[in-house]
Amino acid sequence: MGMMYTSTRDNSVRMTSAEAIVQGISKEGGLCVPMEIPKISLEFIRDLGELSYAKRAEAIFSLYLTDYTKAELEHCTKAAYESEAFPEGQVCELAHLVEGTYMLELWHGPTCAFKDMALQILPHLMVTAADKAGMGEEELVILVATSGDTGKAALEGFKDVPHTKIMVFYPADGVSPMQQKQMVTQAGENVVVCGVKGNFDQVQSTVKKIFTDKAVGARLEEAGKVFSSANSINWGRLAPQIVYYISSYAQLVADGEMTLGEQINVVVPTGNFGNILAAYMAKEMGLPIKKLICASNANNVLTDFLRTGVYDKNREFFTTLSPSMDILISSNLERLVYWLCDGDDKTVKALFQSLSDEGKYQVPVEVMRRLKDDFYGGFCSDEKALETIGQVYKTYSYTSDPHTAVALGVYQDYKKETGDNTKTLVVSTASPYKFSRAVLEGLGVEMSGQADEFDLVDTLAQSSGYDIPESLSNLKGMEVRFNTVISEDEMESFVMKELGL
Ligand SMILES: *Cc1c(COP(=O)(O)O)cnc(C)c1O
Repeated sequence: MGMMYTSTRDNSVRMTSAEAIVQGISKEGGLCVPMEIPKISLEFIRDLGELSYAKRAEAIFSLYLTDYTKAELEHCTKAAYESEAFPEGQVCELAHLVEGTYMLELWHGPTCAFKDMALQILPHLMVTAADKAGMGEEELVILVATSGDTGKAALEGFKDVPHTKIMVFYPADGVSPMQQKQMVTQAGENVVVCGVKGNFDQVQSTVKKIFTDKAVGARLEEAGKVFSSANSINWGRLAPQIVYYISSYAQLVADGEMTLGEQINVVVPTGNFGNILAAYMAKEMGLPIKKLICASNANNVLTDFLRTGVYDKNREFFTTLSPSMDILISSNLERLVYWLCDGDDKTVKALFQSLSDEGKYQVPVEVMRRLKDDFYGGFCSDEKALETIGQVYKTYSYTSDPHTAVALGVYQDYKKETGDNTKTLVVSTASPYKFSRAVLEGLGVEMSGQADEFDLVDTLAQSSGYDIPESLSNLKGMEVRFNTVISEDEMESFVMKELGL
């Protein structure tokens, strides 16, 4: 019997991993979770050290995606991690900051942010899953609402993938200049990008409405099409994120930096709680992780939750220099709460009902105790993030983007507070070049307000020590393919027209 999946809000639900990946979310609104977390031994981890990244991914997926054949997993992992999307042998990189502190750089993929780690493989997992479900001739239509990084990463992942079409909607005034350039110049025959007048929440809620509209769904079905979703609660995005934690530990052991079994801390700049949840799963599988350090920006709803057990989204929303973490509802937290409640679906359902009714919930005392064992929560203001960018550069000659700087800032506080000197992995989630203006400000380089994105990138190149990623420098001469901006209430007819319906 292979691994089956259930729902955080209804334990009677059963799905295979392929079904969980195609559906994205369970029918009654819960999230798909594996019915148990498989265990790995230290020997398993050590042996991974001998393998390529794609092979490490295949070995870990074979524990979770048991309804995929070995050949299918091999195909998916190779297509994602041994393609030209990542520099050869460099799917992720470990940079040494200082003795015992390692930066896990997850932004060497095509869009320069960590979303590529999952969105390069998700299309392959999804198309394979659709084939298995006998949907081979149907077209999967991926609808995405993005505040920046996810849209571009999904476009790169799904471009020209047979039997798929991807449509990305972004708030016309709500993404960074570089993020917008990345999207409107997107190549591919099956891609559509469209700006929407409104903020991210409005774009997202309209996409959800179209996604679940019965009449729209029926018209798609008649035409042999079906909606699917690439957002961060899809199990097919979470599973690939477990891989790099186990992989980097195996690498540190292989490199002689750590002894097998030695504990490590992990610091993760967090928004939707996907990345850090994957680290928690790696720990539950048996990776020797000591503390999971959850770093937030001024939108510190998670810091408060980890300290008090009360999740309360009724608070001011701040637009910060780390926009991919500007979020007040961390959707993936539902999976953690489910596991910490020992799979009590009734409790989870009640808590998240309370979140949607009142904007808050409080977890039971026992859950709180277990949270405190595994997690430390902290937050870092924009001011401190800028200071950290400058200070880390001065001390270690290391340039960090504003999201990574939040992680570094919180890690400093953690060490000061606890005196814990355990070796530590700090997750670096974006290339500094994606947020050049803020990084230059942190480095103390004066720039005029008029300077265009590529001037900023060139200036940053003089101090950062990194080559400018070609995927960003190439944007400069690229033609804009998508300049449509519509209003929210035009989105549905736009989707239908693009689908020829
Ligand atoms: C998405 C994102 C994050 C937050 O990751 P979650 O999985 O949502 O917690 C952090 N940094 C960057 C650069 C991102 O794009």
